[in-house]
Amino acid sequence: MSVLVFIEGDDELSLQALTLAESLGEARAVRCEGPYAPSAWAAALVEAAGGDDIVGPGSDRGNEVLAHVAAQLDLPFAANVTEVRGDELTRIRWGGTLLEEARIHADRRLLTAAPFAFAASNTVLQATVLAPNLGDAVTVVEHVAPETGGISLADAKVVVSGGRGVGSAEGFAILEELAALLEGAVGCSRVVTSAGWRPHTDQVGQTGTKVSPDLYIACGISGATQHIAGCKGAKKLLAINDDPEATIFTHADYAVVGNLHEIVPAISAELRKVRGA
Ligand SMILES: Cc1cc2nc3c(=O)[nH]c(=O)nc-3n(C[C@H](O)[C@H](O)[C@H](O)COP(=O)(O)OP(=O)(O)OC[C@H]3O[C@@H](n4cnc5c(N)ncnc54)[C@H](O)[C@@H]3O)c2cc1C
Repeated sequence: MSVLVFIEGDDELSLQALTLAESLGEARAVRCEGPYAPSAWAAALVEAAGGDDIVGPGSDRGNEVLAHVAAQLDLPFAANVTEVRGDELTRIRWGGTLLEEARIHADRRLLTAAPFAFAASNTVLQATVLAPNLGDAVTVVEHVAPETGGISLADAKVVVSGGRGVGSAEGFAILEELAALLEGAVGCSRVVTSAGWRPHTDQVGQTGTKVSPDLYIACGISGATQHIAGCKGAKKLLAINDDPEATIFTHADYAVVGNLHEIVPAISAELRKVRGA
């Protein structure tokens, strides 16, 4: 059986999707070039797949493009699967709080791999490049890159993230400083974006970006399920919170109980000292 796997590049989530595809059959990888247009990209995948199953990464784009594929083929789509057994599968729902057992009522499977449910494939990636036909439906006027200081949240090796405890938009200056010293990016909780302290592009969580850095530093974040859904891919989590009972500590590898407004500048000062700057 042959499986078409849609990849975005050689990023972690795409390689995890490749692992899932390889477990289902002979996988052939494709990626799309040109401006992002989910409907046009989906049409290109539908054509390339013939009658094969289609697997994608559990990223925002992976899920969006596969949803368009499903609509165009009038077939069911299972997002964020963790295991596939023929036409039965297990998938993650509700921001990671629920594991659902489901059956696909169709001849073909359209799936995305739940982030970090599969190891990244080490197959040497040779993807066919598709050039989706945008037609008249999409005219790209301008691309506006988010202000991330150069390192995107999704790709950063270190994310310094702030929650309500930061207290204000100006309060993020000390997080920016630490992130710059660690060559990382700044993230935040939804409370912060709702308050208008940071743009939505900085939000980590169920309705924000899913990050998988080597180190996630959560400052003044309580650890709500919807936030953890976005940072549980981090290899290590350092939590700074002045409430010793905060839920975030149950997810932390390292915990500092105290006021972030004292601790974060102290870490930056120590880093400068160690580096002799
Ligand atoms: C459908 C849905 C989707 C959602 N999606 C998301 C999402 O994508 N991302 C997300 O983040 N949330 C999301 N939420 C919201 C989520 O439920 C929480 O409300 C939110 O994550 C809480 O943000 P917070 O931790 O910053 O604030 P709080 O829960 O208020 O926590 C603030 C923390 O800061 C600590 N603190 C205060 N002052 C200091 C200080 N000086 N020093 C150190 N610590 C201090 C406090 O002890 C507390 O633990 C969603 C909710 C719903 C219903």
